[in-house]
Amino acid sequence: MEHVADNPWVALAYLISGVCFIMALRGLSSPESSRRGNRYGMIGMAIAVLTTLATHVPTMPVLAVGEVGGYDYAAILQRVDALAMFEILAAIGIGAAIGVVTARRIAMTAMPQLVAAFHSLVGMAAVLVAIAAFLNPVAFGIADVVTPLIGAPFAAIHGVSRIEMILGVAIGAITFSGSVIAFLKLNGNMGGAPIMLPARHAINLGVALMIVWFSFSFWMTQAPLDFWIVVALSFAIGFLLIIPIGGADMPVVVSMLNSYSGWAAAAMGFTLHNTAMIITGALVGSSGAILSYIMCRAMNRSFISVIAGGFGAESGPSGGGAAQIDRPWKRGSAEDAAFLMSQAEQVIIVPGYGMAVAQAQHVLREMGDKLKAEGVRVKYAIHPVAGRMPGHMNVLLAEANVPYDEVFELEDINSEFAQTDVAFVIGANDVTNPAAKTDKTSPIYGMPVLDVEKAKTVLFVKRSMGGVGYAGVDNEVFYRDNTMMLLADAKKMVEEIVKALD
Ligand code: NDP
Repeated sequence: MEHVADNPWVALAYLISGVCFIMALRGLSSPESSRRGNRYGMIGMAIAVLTTLATHVPTMPVLAVGEVGGYDYAAILQRVDALAMFEILAAIGIGAAIGVVTARRIAMTAMPQLVAAFHSLVGMAAVLVAIAAFLNPVAFGIADVVTPLIGAPFAAIHGVSRIEMILGVAIGAITFSGSVIAFLKLNGNMGGAPIMLPARHAINLGVALMIVWFSFSFWMTQAPLDFWIVVALSFAIGFLLIIPIGGADMPVVVSMLNSYSGWAAAAMGFTLHNTAMIITGALVGSSGAILSYIMCRAMNRSFISVIAGGFGAESGPSGGGAAQIDRPWKRGSAEDAAFLMSQAEQVIIVPGYGMAVAQAQHVLREMGDKLKAEGVRVKYAIHPVAGRMPGHMNVLLAEANVPYDEVFELEDINSEFAQTDVAFVIGANDVTNPAAKTDKTSPIYGMPVLDVEKAKTVLFVKRSMGGVGYAGVDNEVFYRDNTMMLLADAKKMVEEIVKALD
């Protein structure tokens, strides 16, 4: 059967959409060009979808055309085709409406869990496509009908298609269940702390080996039982791999799942003979893997351990536990903070998840502007995993028009805290916790952190002494002599500081 992808115009259109996706990735590599990058991505996707729709042909092979036994089969097939097109357009319409409403309503703080939810949908789509192809391989053009001497004719799926199908279903199922757990953790339905099952390494290894064995068996025999066992085990291992991950490893896992969703889509592209999907899936898969690698390096984690899952955290969050409210600490007011910062030569602002929750970025930039007007040098220090998704803080600061040349990555600014008058920590916690450098039992041990405690004064904005960060551990910095706690909602506190600066 000739495939749509063999048409040179279709190939050209898919190539153009692939180029657009590459330019989109290029654009997304910096906040300045990210809007342009997004536009390229949208154009590429529009070209890919329109090409697929325009070249839509009946997928059922036309076995009988013309009038047979009083039925006009050609007309029936045309009607089936029109119905399929209607269903596709209706699905696109419903999906687009849900997408537009979600995008407009979603709070910036809920973005990470939304991304995890999207990954789960990609994973499930790969599983469903693989199941559909398995149940009706002739319609997908991946099988030949074989008529044995004895018994009924059956569809023999091509050897290479069996591999693509079983890979797609396995990666898709792992992506789905792993992303569901990531969603629940990021959404706060499950705690961020690792949940350790006894003998989990042995269980994971056993399940992984069984997946490999039954996949091999499916490739050899095309036995339905093997296929369904791989589906079930892959769903199970997705849960098992992500449940023990917590604290500092979660960001890497989110980008790993992003990568898996890409590979699942690429496998789906092979099954559907869709070049655009193969290109896009491979781009998402490899860029996600590169991002994970970069994040692993930034977080001092082993790439292999994180891919294998659950190997990052060897102990529960024993290090420190919840905040120890009974220890002595100093409380400050907005006026104290305004005075200290206006007298400073340099202030480094350290934003974290709490700034995103409070949506304090705009008033924070206003505070920065006022300080600069008083001759204070203002810089922003961004930790690679501050917030709840890669680049979270960069996006928020860019939204508030903070000049890019005031924003510094951890490795470029960390040495400056020792010569800085004020470190203004706003809604960040884990990324400033010195326990990561000293306490081997801490779930964030080994993660590089911003050395805020080295500044002459640390101003720490959070709502209460009891509240902990994502990793669920106390922060020694709260109780240091040079720290002043500013307890309030981040936006309210900064608004008051701005007033006090006036
Ligand atoms: P944390 O989660 O460690 O801390 C957030 C702080 O913000 C808490 O101390 C909280 O204290 C405070 N806070 C919350 N709401 C407000 C508010 N409205 N006003 C003022 N303060 C508020 O954030 P960090 O950014 O320091 O660290 C990120 C953590 O998230 C790391 O552990 C990282 O591993 C993890 N993570 C990161 C991902 C990523 O890709 N970036 C993805 C998944 C997890 P209180 O409640 O008392 O106000």
